[in-house]
Amino acid sequence: MIKNISERITLANGVTMPLYGAGVFKISDRDTAGAVRDLIETGYRLIDTAPLYGNEEGVGRGVRDSGIPREEVFITTKLWEHYTDEESIIRAFDESLRRLNMDYVDLYLIHWPKPQLDLYVTMWKAFEKIYRSGRARAIGVSNFQSSHLDRLARECEIMPVLNQVEAHPFLTQQELREDLTKRGIVMQAWAPLARGRVIKDPVLNELGDKYGKSAVQVTLRWHLQHGVSAIPKSSKLERMQTNADIFDFNLTEDDLKRIDALNINLRTAEHPDTMNSN
Ligand code: NDP
Repeated sequence: MIKNISERITLANGVTMPLYGAGVFKISDRDTAGAVRDLIETGYRLIDTAPLYGNEEGVGRGVRDSGIPREEVFITTKLWEHYTDEESIIRAFDESLRRLNMDYVDLYLIHWPKPQLDLYVTMWKAFEKIYRSGRARAIGVSNFQSSHLDRLARECEIMPVLNQVEAHPFLTQQELREDLTKRGIVMQAWAPLARGRVIKDPVLNELGDKYGKSAVQVTLRWHLQHGVSAIPKSSKLERMQTNADIFDFNLTEDDLKRIDALNINLRTAEHPDTMNSN
């Protein structure tokens, strides 16, 4: 059972990653450096960004300003665009490194498969090249369904170490989680708080009262006890601290099941199979 905020798990390629972390979606580039400093000071050691968020520069600044050695923080970024050729994909990766002002990232993800474009295999082959160059310590995917992973398994040489998908008590993704476990791929939950919706849920609040915690803290603990990596976002120091205060209690098996039963397959974004093709 995970005991502290910086505890690491070992990914399939041997690289270690903190199971818990934070995302910085919807924090402006200007505010991101301060937010990342606050996160690091609070104890977070995994930061999730993307070119889409427009704050990779802020993430890089925040890490440097924090004063902790680069290798102590695990940085994830992603590829948003769907290029048709390897050269453009590698150029987009170089641009991310330039904005981060780093010479490597810990994890590089394909942001969405967008299967209608039929480009994710091409993209993944470029990712394999980037991985072999050593400038991404690990490569993974985001919003991939099992069928997309099957195709990578058939047509590529390296499998993703991680799949970052929407997951929370109202979208538990149990089937996908079990499939990922079988494949040795870590599941990471984006929108782990259902973008704030967990706050009002009566069951989560009742469990919060039982453990002397909030509905948010109970939810975050539920992710980790399922072995799911979670990356909640808050721009507020006090909430970053609250969200980090989840390592002194354990939900019982029955309580985990009560939360599992809240599933209604609620998505806050489009389904990966139909996500727009822009
Ligand atoms: P979250 O489920 O993390 O919810 C974030 C919302 O919850 C914000 O409005 C935040 O408000 C609020 N919140 C956070 N902590 C608390 C708290 N303790 N009490 C009350 N409210 C709280 O959703 P996100 O969509 O931000 O997902 C998290 C991360 O996942 C993103 O930052 C991003 O890195 C990643 N992501 C990846 C996607 C992908 O396609 N791969 C898609 C979407 C997100 P406030 O900031 O005001 O505190």
